[in-house]
Amino acid sequence: SEATPLYKRVLLKASGEALMGEQGFGIDVTVADRIASDIAEARALGVEVGVVVGGGNIFRGVAVASRGGDRVSGDHMGMLGTVINALALATSLRKIGLDCEVLSAISMPEICQSFSQRLALHHLGRGKVVIFAGGTGNPFFTTDSAAALRAAEIGAEAILKGTQVDGIYSADPKKDPHATRYETLTHDEVLQKGLAVMDVAAVALARENSIPIIVFSIHEQGAFARIVTGGGRATIVND
Ligand code: UDP
Repeated sequence: SEATPLYKRVLLKASGEALMGEQGFGIDVTVADRIASDIAEARALGVEVGVVVGGGNIFRGVAVASRGGDRVSGDHMGMLGTVINALALATSLRKIGLDCEVLSAISMPEICQSFSQRLALHHLGRGKVVIFAGGTGNPFFTTDSAAALRAAEIGAEAILKGTQVDGIYSADPKKDPHATRYETLTHDEVLQKGLAVMDVAAVALARENSIPIIVFSIHEQGAFARIVTGGGRATIVND
């Protein structure tokens, strides 16, 4: 079937938890391969794709701080974790012949290119998938904020936030059987209701730049391509 994409360029946020699959830690290559094939479907429709990967499957800075350690060092470890995930996803994309480039917020030239907006736009314009590693490059931030930041920098028309469930619920649907799913919300409503979908800084940045956030299940095969063509099950956050 010939579906017409709604967007020319999108930013996919894939958390570290997603890449972990059923394991308790690290990367499940089967999951990374599946996310890569979902990205390939969107690319085949002509959509330009930037990806921000999380790192929670490897390390979270707060875990260090909560045990009396130094938060900044912990966050550095977390950001390095996102680089490991970025390299794993790049490997999965290259296996199926997709051109991609990892751009890191923290320079490590032996491993990948350093992020600049100019370089990101260059690669995207040539049809490469760009994986943004290293979060924002700053401690006390998250990869959700990095997703909103990179989306604004590359002029993405939407942030596709892949989560464990198929949208934003009034409560955690895995714990509360009465939780209901929202079809649409505004950025303000997400903030006012304190819905735990992305952190406040990320939602505020998306709001300020009028970038819709589409929350969908990263585990549903083909969902990514369905959403970029205006279908699929998701909650749409827009003003
Ligand atoms: N991190 C950071 N600055 C950033 C992005 C991430 O310091 O801009 C660190 C932080 O310690 C965080 C970890 O990297 O806990 C992993 O990122 P995140 O928790 O956002 O990953 P996800 O939950 O998406 O897997």
